[in-house]
Amino acid sequence: MAPPHILLVEDDPAIARSIIYALERAGLSVTHCLLLKDARQQLQASPPQLLILDVGLPDGSGLDLCRDVRAGTAAASSLPVLILSAHGEEIDRVLGLELGADDYVTKPFSTRELLARVRSMLRRTRMPASAPTRADTGPFEIDTAGQRVSLHGQVLSLTRREFGLLADLLSHRGRIRSRNELLNAVWGADSDSTDRTVDTHIKTLRAKLLAVSPEHDHIVTHRGMGYCIEA
Ligand code: CA
Repeated sequence: MAPPHILLVEDDPAIARSIIYALERAGLSVTHCLLLKDARQQLQASPPQLLILDVGLPDGSGLDLCRDVRAGTAAASSLPVLILSAHGEEIDRVLGLELGADDYVTKPFSTRELLARVRSMLRRTRMPASAPTRADTGPFEIDTAGQRVSLHGQVLSLTRREFGLLADLLSHRGRIRSRNELLNAVWGADSDSTDRTVDTHIKTLRAKLLAVSPEHDHIVTHRGMGYCIEA
């Protein structure tokens, strides 16, 4: 199997060098771009499994690219994105997460920490592979390879977390999934996320499902227990 391919967008040569060294030593394959322009081309030419994105780049903000990835205009919207935010730039971190970045590290960081984040993100990416086949998902249709779900034939525009939540609920159809189970399945056991994170993403996911199927709320909330998609 080919090693996971990572696209690194970073204009500081010393930081880029240390990241490339650490990732390659861990058996990952890395493509490095210094400019957003080149990164956009690279995303199209050879889609990576993970994008590591600096914020301050010579030709613009990495956050713009992050937004475009999530909108599906620069790459598959489910592509995991790790933001490298400058020290003290709290706003980058907050904005990055709001724009749909999956994780961030603040400079200066240890390459060990970065590698741990990368590994955990790559592990989680493989998670929805156990999602069920079309037969038992009712009005939903899951394409796990493309990380896409349709409801009543209409493709949903989901973030990676929303996709993970929906895939998990569908693969346990008819069973209540606790917030903790959902956190572990979608964010990973080592995540800092909380029950509130699950609730927030369920809320946006539910709104997207209701937009397609207003007559039926597919996600049932069981107070104090969790969430369920009924069989
Ligand atoms: Ca920079």
